[in-house]
Amino acid sequence: MRELKFLFDNNRAWAQGQKEKDPEVFKRHVKGQSPNYLWIGCSDSRIPANEMLGLEAGEVFVHRNVANVFPHTDTNCLSVLEYGVEYLGIKHIIVCGHYGCGGVAAAMEQSQFGLVDNWLRHIRDVYFQEKKELDLITNKEEKYQRLIELNVLYQTLNVCHTTIVQNAWAKKKELTVHGWVYDISTGLLKDLNCCISSIDQIDEIYCTLHIS
Ligand SMILES: [Zn+2]
Repeated sequence: MRELKFLFDNNRAWAQGQKEKDPEVFKRHVKGQSPNYLWIGCSDSRIPANEMLGLEAGEVFVHRNVANVFPHTDTNCLSVLEYGVEYLGIKHIIVCGHYGCGGVAAAMEQSQFGLVDNWLRHIRDVYFQEKKELDLITNKEEKYQRLIELNVLYQTLNVCHTTIVQNAWAKKKELTVHGWVYDISTGLLKDLNCCISSIDQIDEIYCTLHIS
């Protein structure tokens, strides 16, 4: 007996609906993809990148992990970024956190949750760097929300600090990196006004040139 039959039923209905809306859609997908956007977001099940942006399949290249972290050394993150920028011609990279993020909440707790604690050390690094500002916030919910925003800002910078983004800028490619937060209580996005589109916006300590 096939398990999860209802998901296959849903899938058939979805595929049929897609074809009725756009008879060429799957033929177009077979030919390839050329999305303008790379979404770097949290794995949280409440945040469907395509739907909330009002975009269809084929329009967003997506990478998700717990608490939308982008470490410089993570080959999964770097591979997605390089493929998106070098081969798909991504023009906008969106790092999007969300209020109510369980990963960020766990990074504020004293208890252990498992392997994920080591991944979330990256968020504790953000807390450590911004301890002065965060310790001034006495309201726990406000502090939590601010750490969510600061995490986005740090991960956005991490994307900009990669050789991949800097080499794209050096080649005069149009590429902008954005920092946003999604509010799960309203379904609305908030722009953190962190929009980086050239190496001039990056501290020189992180800027390197490709030597050929
Ligand atoms: Zn989350």
